Amino acid sequence: MQIQAAVAHRKGAPFSIEAVELAPPGDDEVLIQMVASGICHTDLSARDQEKPVPLPAVFGHEGAGIVLQTGRDVTTVQPGDHVVLSYGSCGACSECRENRPFLCRDMFDINFLGRMPDGSTRLRQGTQEVSTFFAQSSFATYAVATQRNTVKVDPSIPLSLLAPLGCGVQTGSGVVFNRLKPDASNSIVVFGCGTVGLSAIMAAHVLGCHVIVGVDLDPDRLALALDLGATHVLNPTETDVIEAVLVMLGTGADYAIDAVGSPNILRQCVDVIRPGGVAVLVGGTPVGTEVSLGMQNLLSGRTVTGVTEGDSVPQAFIPQLIALYQQGQFPFDKLIRRYPFEQINQAVEDMKSGKAIKPVLVFST
Ligand SMILES: [Zn+2]
Ligand SMILES: [Zn+2]
Repeated sequence: MQIQAAVAHRKGAPFSIEAVELAPPGDDEVLIQMVASGICHTDLSARDQEKPVPLPAVFGHEGAGIVLQTGRDVTTVQPGDHVVLSYGSCGACSECRENRPFLCRDMFDINFLGRMPDGSTRLRQGTQEVSTFFAQSSFATYAVATQRNTVKVDPSIPLSLLAPLGCGVQTGSGVVFNRLKPDASNSIVVFGCGTVGLSAIMAAHVLGCHVIVGVDLDPDRLALALDLGATHVLNPTETDVIEAVLVMLGTGADYAIDAVGSPNILRQCVDVIRPGGVAVLVGGTPVGTEVSLGMQNLLSGRTVTGVTEGDSVPQAFIPQLIALYQQGQFPFDKLIRRYPFEQINQAVEDMKSGKAIKPVLVFST
């Protein structure tokens, strides 16, 4: 079928909304009419070729829409269902079989190499193959996803609100809920107050951490961090963050999160935690990025680790986040700013300038 999609033709160039041919869903796939899609920094880093997605490509990996058609092996959704789309995984490797799809051995290939998990293509313009992204390519009026990355959701909540649950919000909150699992006795420092960092702060607040420090350069984001549950905020242009935390706690923090994905920030995460503490990389980094760490810090029991997609099994975790939202404990709606699909390049500019934390594209029906 012919769809309208935001095509990325060249590294760094604006998206261009054009007609694209979408092949029908295979046996374990789902055709979805897109209602909304979040924009994530990974879409832009892939367009800018920090990830090797072949161009031209249709990006977008926080899709939300309504199921139109299902392949014959699909059992978890049916036409008419409201769904949120998440990351792709193979379903066959030992990690997937042990219900840890976030560690899928084919994670990179499935989500970043431009093809569906079975190796086939879904998108083309004439004879030109167009890459898919995260087994969905949600910057388009229609998309084909796999059953594995399609999550049925409560139809009473607007899909334009739920879209970012598929990546940014589950990534930030999942590192806290699924990996660190802190309690009221714990302290946590979150570097970077975008969607991922603010979602981590909301999760730490839900679990009652007694000290939650948000770190960012932008005063508006720091104000929002306080609103969402941070107990303290620090601006590195005004304060030495590591010294301030050591003074505040009398020691390092239990946990620190790098929600930016830079060597400098990860280094600070390691330096700001106490002996035995845990520093976690959550933000995506360009392929090939390396970091240097003080070895003495590691000798005193500090752990440095990373989390992909918040250690989330989307079919289980996304409904949990929606339930928390409905209980008023997880107000991620405060991160969202909506744009008509046609204004995708404006939305990207606003995300880059900091005017929008989580832009969500809305498709006209
Ligand atoms: Zn797998
Ligand atoms: Zn993402």
